[in-house]
Amino acid sequence: MKRRLFGNLWKRASAVCCGLALALLCAGAQGAEPSYRSEYVAVTGPNAAAIGRECDAIVKRLEARYGKPAYWRVFPVNYAPGRGGAVAGYTIYQTPNVVEVAIFQTFEESRGKTLDHELTHAFFFYYLQSNFDLLMNEGLAQNSEYGSRDRLRDKVYARWARGDFLPLDALYGLNRYDRGLLIYTQGFSVVDFLIARGGSKWFAAFMLELTATKDLDRALSRFYGYANLSAFERDWLEYVRQGQDRANVRALNNKLNVK
Ligand SMILES: [Zn+2]
Repeated sequence: MKRRLFGNLWKRASAVCCGLALALLCAGAQGAEPSYRSEYVAVTGPNAAAIGRECDAIVKRLEARYGKPAYWRVFPVNYAPGRGGAVAGYTIYQTPNVVEVAIFQTFEESRGKTLDHELTHAFFFYYLQSNFDLLMNEGLAQNSEYGSRDRLRDKVYARWARGDFLPLDALYGLNRYDRGLLIYTQGFSVVDFLIARGGSKWFAAFMLELTATKDLDRALSRFYGYANLSAFERDWLEYVRQGQDRANVRALNNKLNVK
């Protein structure tokens, strides 16, 4: 999910979105034929071919970056610009499938941003066969917003500099959108840093192990050589303090630390 505003608007927006999602699903059930369909997505309505081709390109980029999911079923990507209230887009899952990606911006507004964000949720749902921890999930989705990365890094530094970070052990495993911006901001930075250290495919392998074992300390130790989450957090905060200088991130040798 990607949100634009936070706070009191949220409950109302959720209700609007649920209604909208039902309406969209009903429209699909009435037999409207997709005007674009690929091995990844189905798109109906205005601009369907351009949207569909962009979706395919995004998924192919994700496959090149992280590896190909073993399982994939086509899902609809529905645009309803301006109708999301506080929500820019969302992804609905019903194990084992993605049911729908909805985008409440125009196609142009969403390119490199919300569309990439939501398709990353869909991609990792299939890749990991899990609707996994929100901090990592939103962090990964934010990381795909190549049009927003510099702005996101600025936001990370600004929030850290004014002392507006929560300890990671208070965010990891929370699986709620409380203080939602911290899930997005800190999640983005954690993923950004881990990918800088070991690359995208190494990170994807780490996520596979983390999802399978649900043991964050052990996965961090085996894949990144940190004793535990606290040791990782110290290193990551130092990276933030130094201005997220990716050129000077200590690279891994990408060998598992077997203990
Ligand atoms: Zn999201």
